[in-house]
Amino acid sequence: MEEKHKVTSAEASALLRQQLGVWPLVAQNFKALEAVHLKQFEWNGLTVKVQFNPARIVSSGAKVDAKSIKARKCFLCPNHLPEEQLRLPFGERYQVLCNPFPIFPEHFTIPSLAHTPQLIVPQLDDFLEVVRSLDRFTLFYNGPRCGASAPDHAHFQAVTWGLMPLDEEVMAKEQELSALRYVSAEGTVILLHHYLRNGFILKAKTKEAMRSLFLRIYALLPVPEGEAEPMMNLFGWYREEEWILALIPRKRHRPWQYEAEGADHLLSSPGAADIGGLFITPLAEDFEKINPALLQDVYEQVCWSDQEVMELFLRLSND
Ligand SMILES: [Zn+2]
Repeated sequence: MEEKHKVTSAEASALLRQQLGVWPLVAQNFKALEAVHLKQFEWNGLTVKVQFNPARIVSSGAKVDAKSIKARKCFLCPNHLPEEQLRLPFGERYQVLCNPFPIFPEHFTIPSLAHTPQLIVPQLDDFLEVVRSLDRFTLFYNGPRCGASAPDHAHFQAVTWGLMPLDEEVMAKEQELSALRYVSAEGTVILLHHYLRNGFILKAKTKEAMRSLFLRIYALLPVPEGEAEPMMNLFGWYREEEWILALIPRKRHRPWQYEAEGADHLLSSPGAADIGGLFITPLAEDFEKINPALLQDVYEQVCWSDQEVMELFLRLSND
């Protein structure tokens, strides 16, 4: 049997143009994005952009505990999608949809057709396949407690390349001569540190090699009690016939300020965009008060320290 079609970057862009013509809510949300307020901070060699995006309250404020998830209708299941939502089948198991609450001028959600939990290992081959096919975009994965608003339904997101500072910073880092590298038969792991969202850049030429490289790091990451997998955000690109992944381990879903009342309150549930350096604030008062010290505080709470990633890197190199 012939292999099912994989959606290309051009086909995804065409889907969005078509979708904007037939779904007023989505047309309105993408239009609003053009006028969105943006602030940019640079400190200690880091760049972080902050986007004021009121429509994202749906996602940042989403209740993702097991009980609330069970009680709601899954919005990624094919039977529950709004009638206006166009779908492009991707291979046998996925479809490409336009994200109705965008952060990026081109923003797609790629859910599995089956209602199956958000987990990276069973989806890794598919992730790599989508990365290669949608090569003009950045593909990302939010772990079930790392920004995914549907932890019960497997999905990825594909977004405009270059808006998250991480897009260019990862490419620059992997060229840096002084970067710490671990080279194995499967590929290369480059340490990403002094970055507030520390982690690992992985490079490999085949899916099999990338899988085995990924699994070696995965096996060293702690799994928090009650969780099904180590906490992480994963980014992927395909350049010059090579896969490049950025694996950013997490230690917390939300900063303590999420639960705080009054002046300390911050409505932030960091997912891949925030970790990528495009920090989303759905509330005007949060957008006003955000500054480098607060951003640094949030990243330090939810991501790994320089020492933590270094220790894991040394274990990997000494294995
Ligand atoms: Zn579902």
